[in-house]
Amino acid sequence: MTKVYAANAQGTYDLDPPSGYDAWIDYWNSKKGLIAGKCRQCNEQSKDLVGAHVQLVEKRSDGQWYYKNNVLYIVPSCIGCNNHNNKTVFSVEWDDLVPAPKA
Ligand SMILES: [Zn+2]
Repeated sequence: MTKVYAANAQGTYDLDPPSGYDAWIDYWNSKKGLIAGKCRQCNEQSKDLVGAHVQLVEKRSDGQWYYKNNVLYIVPSCIGCNNHNNKTVFSVEWDDLVPAPKA
């Protein structure tokens, strides 16, 4: 299992899920073929998960975290973690990242 570092993306709150999906968490569940069950940011079990847009981050020589690139992924998150003001870096299984469709 490969762990990667990620953080909430910015400016993605108005992105609608693809047609045929009620919500981003449905998109994630469908792509993975399972029900998420827990938040991948704080690891709490929750029935009220949403599909958060996140990006990979990397720590640079100045000690700060930066987005690696502009690629967006969907990750199951609780309401509390899925907040654009929450810039907390979290580690997540690579397999738990579902690439967001191109807008
Ligand atoms: Zn959470």
